[in-house]
Amino acid sequence: MSLATSPAHLHDGSPVCASTPTVDPARDLRDRIFVAGRWEIGTGDLIESIDPATGAVFATLHGATADTVDTAVREGLSAARASGWASALPHERAAVLHRIGNAVEDACDRIAALQTLDTGKTLTETRALAMSAANTFRYMAAALETMDSALTTPRGPWLTMSTHRPMGVVGAITPWNSPIASDAQKLAPALAAGNAVISKPPVWAPWVTLLLAQLCEEAGLPAGVLSVLPGPGRTVGEALVSHPLVSKVSFTGGTATGRHLAHVAADKLMPITLELGGKSPTIVFDDADIERAVAGVLFGIFSSSGQSCIAGSRIFVQRSIFDAFTTDLVERAQQLRLGRGTDPGTDVAPMIARAHRDSVAAMVDDAVAAGARILCGGAIPDDPRLADGNYYPPTILTGVANTDTICQEEVFGPVAVILPFDDEADVIAQANDTVYGLACGIWTEDYRRALRLGEAVDAGTVWVNTYKQFSISTPFTGLRDSGLGTEKGRDAVRAYCDQKSIYLDRSDAPIAWGKH
Ligand code: NAD
Repeated sequence: MSLATSPAHLHDGSPVCASTPTVDPARDLRDRIFVAGRWEIGTGDLIESIDPATGAVFATLHGATADTVDTAVREGLSAARASGWASALPHERAAVLHRIGNAVEDACDRIAALQTLDTGKTLTETRALAMSAANTFRYMAAALETMDSALTTPRGPWLTMSTHRPMGVVGAITPWNSPIASDAQKLAPALAAGNAVISKPPVWAPWVTLLLAQLCEEAGLPAGVLSVLPGPGRTVGEALVSHPLVSKVSFTGGTATGRHLAHVAADKLMPITLELGGKSPTIVFDDADIERAVAGVLFGIFSSSGQSCIAGSRIFVQRSIFDAFTTDLVERAQQLRLGRGTDPGTDVAPMIARAHRDSVAAMVDDAVAAGARILCGGAIPDDPRLADGNYYPPTILTGVANTDTICQEEVFGPVAVILPFDDEADVIAQANDTVYGLACGIWTEDYRRALRLGEAVDAGTVWVNTYKQFSISTPFTGLRDSGLGTEKGRDAVRAYCDQKSIYLDRSDAPIAWGKH
């Protein structure tokens, strides 16, 4: 099995573009943000974009401000109405979404090159993310076109129905770790529902969201319906969530930010979807296909350099095979190759930013000071070829208890802890002893046991004998501190609609009330 090198596992099995992509700075790195259909130089903070592989500044971008948010929201609301986007028939909006999906697929190489430059990720991964975004737009188009409205069973002389309408303007706030895929996950259903959308991409990786806006424009999305406003979360993001005309926000990011935004949303009684952090358990039983489990566990934690909300960062191994499995895992982890995202031989690419890499290193140092033992990795590499990039090696720590800080706090880097367990009851207790509930991996040949555990572990997504696989048709939810609400699946479009009920009277009888 080669999960780590097979992009098909990441994007519903579609073919992946394969030529060597490059970035065209004049076309793809223009200092312009997208405000209600206009490409403008932002009036906010200057964002310096740094190549994670070299430390070189490759572009600058003036971001948005709270005032830009206000303009985009007001004009977006008018544009959705005046252009007919909000009132268009489902198949008419679906046609535009199909064209966006196809445009994203056609631009796959361009998107991948830009995203690898901006985030450091391997081209294998950024191509897969681009294809996943293309498929998301097409899936939401199909869902929209085939979605029924309901006549409800009347309990009186009426025709009763449940209908849906767009909410107006919605916000989409995304993190830096999977741009384009997380953009599409929010933009496609929100646009499908007939809304205007304000996207707030992260400061560390704004470029592919701006490219996506170009593709939406070229595909015929009416002007003004989409804005892309990069800028700091505490000003631009906060202005978006607190704006009185914004009817819903979908947020993906850290748990602390999400908790804060839930308060902001509560103050204005606005629905908010939160996709947050994780500390996901991956559980290996002694009857597992060990080779498959080793490969899957490695992929689960070290792909994307561990910068993944669903990273399987707590590895639980049944005590009878703990030593042998750990030896295999460490040996394979040491063979993973650090390198640039553009190098086809790279397994573990640089991390997004120097500050983030250093915070990961500091968490490992703290864990070691608290008694953890390093089995591999555990130090910033001293190879001079890697000195300019934000590299951190695959790291496995042992000699820890599940209650230790390193087992409880999200590292968001290529760092795993490995712990033994005795039986099902023991591992369920340890797996659930966390504030998070995002994902879980189970490696066993006993499917009855897998189902028992899958139901017992507090995780929105459970993988059995695989890990980190996604399908846009399957809903995604974080339990506990990992989130609130659901994304993906057919119902995603409805999550961006107001639901209404209509009663049509069919009776000729007079209304008797108040007659004496
Ligand atoms: P973050 O919370 O710092 O930022 C996420 C986004 O929110 C960014 O665009 C940021 O600018 C914005 N933001 C920050 N403060 C804000 C505020 N006060 N108001 C409005 N917006 C604000 O997270 P990050 O470091 O960019 O991303 C990493 C985190 O995201 C990790 O915890 C990871 O687990 C999580 N994540 C979760 C999922 C999921 O689906 N559950 C997916 C990817 C990442």
